[in-house]
Amino acid sequence: MTAPTAQTYEFRAEIQQLLHILIHALYTDREIFLRELISNASDALNRLRFEQLTNAEVIDPEAELAIRVSFDPEARTLTVTDTGIGMNRDEIIENLGTIAHSGAMAFMKAMQERGGQSPNEIIGQFGVGFYSVFMVAEKVEVLSRSFRPHDQAVLWTSQGGTDYTVAPAERAQRGTQITLYIKEDAAELLNEHTLKRIITTHSNYIPFPIYLGDKVVNAQTALWRRAPREVEAKEYQEFFKQLTFDANPPTLTIHQVADAPVQFYALLFVPAKLDRGILVGEGQGKLRLYARKVLIQDHAKELLPEWMRFVEGVIDSEDLPLNISRETVQSNRLMQRLKQTITSRVLSELETLAEKTPERYLTFWNEFGRLMKEGAITDAANRERLLPLLRFRTLRHPDQLISLRQYLSEMVAEQEHIYYLFGDDPQSILRSPHLDVFRARKVDVLLLTDTLDSFLVNAIGVFEGKKLHNGADADLKLPAGAEEETPTAEALPAEAQETLVERFKRVLGERVQDVRITDLLRENPVRLVAPDQGFGADMERVYRLIDKEFKLPTRILEINPRHPLIRNLSAMPDDPLAEQVIEQLFEGALLVEGIHPRPVDMLPRLIAIMEAATRRNLASG
Ligand code: ADP
Repeated sequence: MTAPTAQTYEFRAEIQQLLHILIHALYTDREIFLRELISNASDALNRLRFEQLTNAEVIDPEAELAIRVSFDPEARTLTVTDTGIGMNRDEIIENLGTIAHSGAMAFMKAMQERGGQSPNEIIGQFGVGFYSVFMVAEKVEVLSRSFRPHDQAVLWTSQGGTDYTVAPAERAQRGTQITLYIKEDAAELLNEHTLKRIITTHSNYIPFPIYLGDKVVNAQTALWRRAPREVEAKEYQEFFKQLTFDANPPTLTIHQVADAPVQFYALLFVPAKLDRGILVGEGQGKLRLYARKVLIQDHAKELLPEWMRFVEGVIDSEDLPLNISRETVQSNRLMQRLKQTITSRVLSELETLAEKTPERYLTFWNEFGRLMKEGAITDAANRERLLPLLRFRTLRHPDQLISLRQYLSEMVAEQEHIYYLFGDDPQSILRSPHLDVFRARKVDVLLLTDTLDSFLVNAIGVFEGKKLHNGADADLKLPAGAEEETPTAEALPAEAQETLVERFKRVLGERVQDVRITDLLRENPVRLVAPDQGFGADMERVYRLIDKEFKLPTRILEINPRHPLIRNLSAMPDDPLAEQVIEQLFEGALLVEGIHPRPVDMLPRLIAIMEAATRRNLASG
């Protein structure tokens, strides 16, 4: 249905906000508005080409697929015209008045996160979309005619305030014509030289001709279809920037041209930084899929495993059928082959990076390590190759990140396991009493602090023949090797040990599953071990995150019979202070395990103990 006359509508609230920001931005780089218009025109042309190839009846079928930019300094107008898919009345209201599109939303989110900071530095990094025209225009007219033969042309007009007007219009040609009435202070844009520079800087690789006057000004080449050795580093970078709006040069550039088993061209990038909202749902890396130069999907998600969503770029294959629809992409065998080949290539590039330039690999790891872990957990097919790419802090290398292979190469004689400990951060783990015996025997331990690590150790299981083993397990298996001689106090005699164990049990009651003597402690008087080893103990951290009420299974308290504090306790059988000390030892052990429900509750007892200690000191002195 078309309304007979012009009608005025309000913009949606977020769009009004966005417009307000854009209109008032003192934005030096405001020339990006043209990039946005050309990018929209290019999308519209791609979609038209897709329609033509598949089914629909299209008006003006002979019209060249092109973008035209023209200007009139006298009238202070700039016009961008395309012969793309066009919009009818409903579409124009929906697209230009109702929904703020992905780039604009990401921009608004970034603005909120930066709390009222000036938008000037960040506009250029986002595809703010159509609305960016209001940075340079005081009024905008969009005249559009849909490709569908029965749709009538429509004219959308706005001055960027709170509303816009839509009216029926006359237009014979298919596509969209956008006229900007340029603000006085942006009039310097209106000359051929400037416009040409803007187009080649931001839109050089748009795969349709962009006419400025009667000359085509963009390079238009599908860069990925050129022979890799003929492409210069600078061209890749420029292309990356035009594809992603990311000004940082990418960490990896992968250009692959293959003929068998599937013919394809791929030009892929790993960006330098994760911080472009890649991890927030939809804003994933852009992977464009072309079949014979026709854009089939601009966010192809099935061509790489999900965890590789940091990879961006273009994949173009001659072998894929042009009418491949979104549903058949998943089930298409060629696509599966393509996916395997490309995934393998990205992995081998990462392997090379790790091997040849370990420093650069660590920079990559610091940005994308969590995604690599996600891959090791979820992607069984590629796990073998991912494991050597993982990096960990360890007891021996707390300030470095090492690979599992390095861990293996530094194992002590007869070491059969790869040991790990969980904790909230490396510093807390380094305080753990579980490390006493590892320090004494010079055995290294992975320090795991990420919630994903619980899943990771389960997924790994065994690495190159060595089983992973939690250093806090009640039945810890250690290499047979001896430790260095260090002078240690004598242990309590057996009888005294028994009496003390009974006393601990009496004081702690139900709160522990058992109390026993251990010879695995050195510096620490006690520790708590999880009786239920393996999966259970590893996953407790996760359960607790998911469910705050999750009740931890009770632990076994182990006592170091050589520790001076333990020996002292044994020597004060009837002293009530000893009970307080036992309580405090237990709660301290909970604390170091990261499972004390409320550490501050220990304070009154600590004060009482200190008071007793100072009193005795006075009495004896
Ligand atoms: P985005 O391009 O991120 O989707 P925009 O705000 O730039 O957001 O554009 C909003 C929508 O308007 C587009 O998704 C598209 O559907 C439509 N649109 C914009 N420009 C054109 C055009 N030249 N031809 C056809 N449709 C267009």
